[in-house]
Amino acid sequence: MILVSKRFLKMLTGNFAQAITLWPFVILKSTELKKDWTLINHERIHLRQQIELLLVFFYLWYAIEFLARWIICRDTNKAYHHICFEKEAYLNDNNPEYLNTRKLFSFLKYL
Ligand SMILES: [Zn+2]
Repeated sequence: MILVSKRFLKMLTGNFAQAITLWPFVILKSTELKKDWTLINHERIHLRQQIELLLVFFYLWYAIEFLARWIICRDTNKAYHHICFEKEAYLNDNNPEYLNTRKLFSFLKYL
């Protein structure tokens, strides 16, 4: 389910993100972004990852991996882009067939 809330997004991510996925919601910064097919597909990949890890383990893993990568590289943007969930989503968000062919726990390939 897609929601639009600039305020909520800013509260959670500062000015960092245009969208965030908190199953079952995808929250966008603006209505315009609904037309961004790649972004929506990116967030749909996160929805699938979140279900696979029963939500709570996704958020825990995401936070721990981000922190570990940030400690290593001291670069917020780099740490974010190297999280396995983000790597899987960014490398496949332009593929319309990806979610139809994706195997369970595919994010593990991007660790
Ligand atoms: Zn993402």
